[in-house]
Amino acid sequence: MYSVLFDIDGTLVQTGGAGKNAFAAAFAQLFDVVEISNNVQFAGRSDRAIALDLMGLHGVEPSVENWQRFVDCYLEQLEISLPKCEGEVLTGVVDLLDALQGIEQVQLGLLTGNVKSGAAHKLGHYNLADRFAFGGFGDEETDRNAIARVAKAQAQAHAEGDLARTMVIGDTVHDVVCAQSIGAFAVAVATGGATIEELAKTGPDLLLEDLTDTEALLTEVMASDRREVKFS
Ligand SMILES: [Mg+2]
Repeated sequence: MYSVLFDIDGTLVQTGGAGKNAFAAAFAQLFDVVEISNNVQFAGRSDRAIALDLMGLHGVEPSVENWQRFVDCYLEQLEISLPKCEGEVLTGVVDLLDALQGIEQVQLGLLTGNVKSGAAHKLGHYNLADRFAFGGFGDEETDRNAIARVAKAQAQAHAEGDLARTMVIGDTVHDVVCAQSIGAFAVAVATGGATIEELAKTGPDLLLEDLTDTEALLTEVMASDRREVKFS
């Protein structure tokens, strides 16, 4: 089984700022933060890491209780925010998912910094929720490499142990680094948080301007299939 793990923001969809708006609204409502700091990076990072950084910068105790209050409020705000923002499913994504789902030896999962329910809200809003059977999420972990390990373990379990290869597709340097950390084939796509030049420096296995090049991705998946046959 070949497992293809997708990042969400900047890779599958761009939400038009719905996520960041929901963060800001939750911090305003819960902690009276009028404007969240611009000194915290969002792209490619886990919701938990972003929230803890913001708490630190705005004098909010980064306790488990505050994190849980934040998540509940953030999810409510995300539901309000998603339809208000002008987002979209990114170019080539639906065709790519269709193509991958047409291959018997491929399973699709998520590798995202979103909390699990946040991922469900975002993908539900863009009619992509039923495409992914498992994943690693940003609920418990702050480090993307740790999320990658969880996603790979979930992929292994979903394949009932028959997992030959893993591909990670994402739009930031963090996505490439976490792919490399679990020995996955790293696909970087410049539709979100980083430029082609920034992504190139991390040495991804495949670097794309967008996900319209279905052929390049399928070639890797199918080549892997042939390698398996050859060595089995
Ligand atoms: Mg992303």
